[in-house]
Amino acid sequence: MPELPEVETIARGLAGSVAGDVIDSVWLGTKPEPFKSRAVEIIGTLEAKRIAQIRRVGKHLVFDLETREQASSPARRAGAIRAKSSQPRTEAQWIVHLGMTGRMLVCQADQPVAKHTHAIARLASGRELRFVDPRRFGRLSVARGFQAPGSEPLEVERESFVNLFRGRKTPIKSALLNQKLLSGVGNIYADESLFRAAVRPRRRAASLTREELRRLYRALQEVLQEAIALGGSSVSDYVGADGEEGFFQLQHRVYGRQGEPCLVCKTPIKRRVIAGRSSHYCPHCQR
Ligand SMILES: [Zn+2]
Repeated sequence: MPELPEVETIARGLAGSVAGDVIDSVWLGTKPEPFKSRAVEIIGTLEAKRIAQIRRVGKHLVFDLETREQASSPARRAGAIRAKSSQPRTEAQWIVHLGMTGRMLVCQADQPVAKHTHAIARLASGRELRFVDPRRFGRLSVARGFQAPGSEPLEVERESFVNLFRGRKTPIKSALLNQKLLSGVGNIYADESLFRAAVRPRRRAASLTREELRRLYRALQEVLQEAIALGGSSVSDYVGADGEEGFFQLQHRVYGRQGEPCLVCKTPIKRRVIAGRSSHYCPHCQR
């Protein structure tokens, strides 16, 4: 399942490839699961819109859409320059959650359409954006002013991060996965950051000292940034028409390594289920 770093990598790849292009028309498949908004709404929102930019919000890909008139009017351009550092003033968003097996492929129009293709956006450049998802856990929707419910893990300030967790009685692992607190942190990166912060996943969030929470903040930033840096080199493979997954995985230190020796102290890594999710940790290094 693509996690935050993968989605960030995919968003950057798509931005480099299709930002600025215009969606001429849209085809949607007949399987209902991939569509969170009504088909007529998706088509009405996407057609004849320019893709201003593509960004990641939590684990969602967000396509910021603007009308062609907006895009070309001088007043709009001046406004865009003035508001450079703030949120884009686009009128609608196309939101894609990749689920377990979802892919957003950039294809030439004459390339054969893969099995399990649920949506095609035909672009003015002659290319197509195709959403392919064999297991159909991915979701397409449209919105205005889309915002994730929680804080953005790579943008949240350190002290705000600390305050998110203080006083919470749930295990710190569950709190890290709570999308209302942080958007987009998944199981792998929660386990990896807890290992680097030397904190056991089952500890109550409220029991962590300010210093431990600061360590966890640093560890989470590091883990996500390293994974994004690794992903950057494989973007072109991922968005390629063949759809091959090309991510270089971050070397996991605990995730999926139960029974294997800790890379620091050689103690076998343990696996425990916490709130329905498997958690991996070193009983010696993590307290
Ligand atoms: Zn250890």
